[in-house]
Amino acid sequence: MSGANLVIRAARLACGTRNRPADCLVDCLAAEGRILDVLPHDPTRAFEGAEVLDASGKILLPSLVDCHTHLRDPGQEYKEDIPSGLSAAAHGGFGHVMCMANTKPVNDDAAITEAMLDAARKSHPAGPFLHPIGALSKGLSGTELAPMADLAAAGCAAFSNDGMPVASAEFFRRAVEYAATFGRIVIDHCEEPTMAPAAGMNEGAVSARLGLRGQPWVAEASQVARDVLMAECLGLPIHIAHVSCKASVDLIAFAKARGVAVTAETCPHYLLLTEQACEGYDTRAKVNPPLRTLADVESLRQALATGIVDILATDHAPHADHEKEVEFDLAPCGISGLDTALSLVWSLTPGGILTEERLVDAMSHAPGRVFGIETNRFAPGDPADIVVFDPKVRWTASRETMHSKSCNTPWLGSTLVGRVSAHFMGGVRIV
Ligand SMILES: [Zn+2]
Repeated sequence: MSGANLVIRAARLACGTRNRPADCLVDCLAAEGRILDVLPHDPTRAFEGAEVLDASGKILLPSLVDCHTHLRDPGQEYKEDIPSGLSAAAHGGFGHVMCMANTKPVNDDAAITEAMLDAARKSHPAGPFLHPIGALSKGLSGTELAPMADLAAAGCAAFSNDGMPVASAEFFRRAVEYAATFGRIVIDHCEEPTMAPAAGMNEGAVSARLGLRGQPWVAEASQVARDVLMAECLGLPIHIAHVSCKASVDLIAFAKARGVAVTAETCPHYLLLTEQACEGYDTRAKVNPPLRTLADVESLRQALATGIVDILATDHAPHADHEKEVEFDLAPCGISGLDTALSLVWSLTPGGILTEERLVDAMSHAPGRVFGIETNRFAPGDPADIVVFDPKVRWTASRETMHSKSCNTPWLGSTLVGRVSAHFMGGVRIV
């Protein structure tokens, strides 16, 4: 019936639509890359000439949008390159990936943006789609503005100095104002750069016991305070990257209550791990900002559930084994996250910490809204960007099961529950 060329049958929707509550089984019909209709499941209905996928026991989500990924390409392709990063994204349920500018060379030149987009189109023509983030400053120096007009014209979706926090408030102000003239938002890595920069460990009892240099929460929160006041003063939006602590959450809540156009993201590891993951000098738990305390984890979970923190991003930061297998102080910060993010965060839904609906908003619709990327709400005409998720399957995160070139994750060897079993972009199957 009805000219559909793709039909996904007998699945449950993670987020109900106006006409289809989340608990009813549906048949999802797509044609020409768009959702045609979502009908109550009818086992007797026949679909002539369509590709039909039986998704009994599975859940449909819109394809996810990651607004914070490091792809290491150009320059450090041994950690990750655009093809391997997009492959990890596809298998992790991400259909749109925004990649940070701290490549080698830095993405502060339209030719680099164009080369990234070209590599992505060649390796993944049907998606996942790449949205490069341009550097805020030349070479991430924090002193000279990047050529944002050229970068925006070449396809940069936002601007950020991620990895190299901007110390100068005046420079930051000019950057936010300049980006706004191209309709682009600045994403800020909030870290006061004189307080144990990139220590990768929270300052507290655990760092003291381990004899490691720790970074206090105020290093992050003081920059968040600057940014939310800056956004209010300028009347311009600012997006705050990877929030890790309760004080930052409180400041974002304060700003939102005042009507300031601030948005924020956190990452799966800040919802699931504390500083104790660094015990035994485990460098796989070394991230920037660092893993904090249980009180911070609880605050972040609540902030994500209520929407004070809008977005869940991966901060996918791949590193090779030999780089992590060194002393804690010498190891680079970062967790490889694209393969595991959805399974990890799904673990929070059965206990009611996060509703499925809120998870879908935080991982798809909210980043889509903030950065102007169209997402699927399972309404007729929406893009047929669909993740078929099996919530029961158990899998072990390993070198064999992960598609990223780097497996630097504290969950390596752990059994995770729930995994993407199929992924369509524009109705084309990419997983
Ligand atoms: Zn960062």
